[in-house]
Amino acid sequence: MSLSGQQKAPKYIFVTGGVTSSLGKGIIASSLAKLLQSRGLSVTIQKLDPYLNVDPGTLNPYEHGECYVTDDGAETDLDLGHYERFLNVPTSQANNVTTGRIYKNVIDKERRGDFLGKTVQVIPHITDEIKRNVLQLGETGKFDIVITEIGGCVGDIESLPFLEAVRQLKWDLGENNMLVIHLTLIPYLSSAGELKTKPTQHSVRMLQENGIQPDIIVCRSEHPLPVEIRRKIALFCNVEVNSVIEAIDADTIYDVPLLMKKEKLDQRVLYMLNVYNDQDADMELWKDFLGKLKNPSDQVRIGVVGKYVELKDAYKSIAEAFIHAGAVNECKVKIDWIHSESLTPQNVAEKLANLDGVLVAPGFGERGIEGKIAAVKHVRENSIPFFGICLGMQMACIEYARNVLGFENAHSSEMNKETPYPVIDLMEDQKDITNKGGTMRLGAYECKIKDKTLAKKIYGKALISERHRHRWEFNNKFQKDFEKSGMVTSGINPDTGLVEIVEIPSHPYFIGVQFHPELKSTVMNPHPLFVNFVKAAIEYSSTKK
Ligand code: GLN
Repeated sequence: MSLSGQQKAPKYIFVTGGVTSSLGKGIIASSLAKLLQSRGLSVTIQKLDPYLNVDPGTLNPYEHGECYVTDDGAETDLDLGHYERFLNVPTSQANNVTTGRIYKNVIDKERRGDFLGKTVQVIPHITDEIKRNVLQLGETGKFDIVITEIGGCVGDIESLPFLEAVRQLKWDLGENNMLVIHLTLIPYLSSAGELKTKPTQHSVRMLQENGIQPDIIVCRSEHPLPVEIRRKIALFCNVEVNSVIEAIDADTIYDVPLLMKKEKLDQRVLYMLNVYNDQDADMELWKDFLGKLKNPSDQVRIGVVGKYVELKDAYKSIAEAFIHAGAVNECKVKIDWIHSESLTPQNVAEKLANLDGVLVAPGFGERGIEGKIAAVKHVRENSIPFFGICLGMQMACIEYARNVLGFENAHSSEMNKETPYPVIDLMEDQKDITNKGGTMRLGAYECKIKDKTLAKKIYGKALISERHRHRWEFNNKFQKDFEKSGMVTSGINPDTGLVEIVEIPSHPYFIGVQFHPELKSTVMNPHPLFVNFVKAAIEYSSTKK
């Protein structure tokens, strides 16, 4: 049952974090949203990021992990990936706002003369702009509940304006229309054999200094929280004892919604927001997924070749898509993260030995390129299942051009402007672009799939829509050469003719895609390209036995 029938105004929940970063605000927000959604409510999650980049599109993955792209072409924080994977509902530009964007909007308004005669200040102009960005999601009329996650930690100088906006919103929206959930850490001191509440007390005090009293405190902990610890937190932090929620370390992030249900976080939230909802969260499908995930009957090893492999967050959506695809296939997918710079034509056979499939990852720039090409050559020649994503697909085309078509020094003009065979080239409409921010080919585009191809078998339909983030493209001047010698361009953009999918029919499983399927894989909707790649790996592994 939706709220909408009973009342027009949506309810707002803010999630702040304290003590340390990386406690998993995004997972807690997603888990709560999942429980509320499973009670029939319509929920969205937004992330406010305190940094000054207008969006994370210009950030190196080492800085901030993967850049997640939405259907409407926004380059966003990777937490939006969790929101989509948990809720199975697309997000948009409005779901991720940075300090940079807030300031840019305010300064643009100032230059336009919107504040003529006035001194433009953090309060009220910046805080008003923050509030506008929060409320506009609610004003779409699409959601009963808007959850806003505030990036960073309480006490950071740069998140102060966001906290000030939250303080003001309590007055604007009124009691029972919004609440604040504070996520903290309860460390365990092994020398004392005790859980310690002091850091949480301090972090809550810091929030209170900013004029915010948290309504619910979610406590990350390695150990269960005994009732006396809950009471102590309640007493010192000014909340009721049943507003102290334990968030114990979980085996997988996908356990967290069920752990939060056990702690009655959803019930508590609805009670405090004055929402009458007697539906119990229906988590049966979720439990089915978890059952399969935890009881696999098969196992495969997949090599992911990339240049940011030291930082797993750089390939977050790929790793999660393998979890979804593994569960459907009731197969444990073990990922070997392989540094592309470590691969050479001489060592590739040894480095890729014992793998049941190889995925060549997306990326930018020169570093590690020859390693990726060596990996493609090895799997193509040895009939090992291959899946190339974006740059990975481009490398598959370059390898094919060099080693099958005999195009010596074929390359992408991204890495070699002088190549005699630019089989991957800058898209026409990218040629005059000089600004780097938000100017790639971004977001969802349609792709038409040819009949009697692997892609058609995988998707089971002729028209698909997938998300993109790139500047270079397959060069159609060479399309006939590829087709004649056995690499098929099986997916084409119907409006521009750009090649979106390539495959080699004579190989047991070889497919490269120009888009990012990993961004659309969710728990309830695992992506067919990952599901079928894992299937191919299972088949390949059984032929080895
Ligand atoms: N660097 C390539 C391009 O811009 C591939 C990008 C990617 O893998 N996301 O076209």
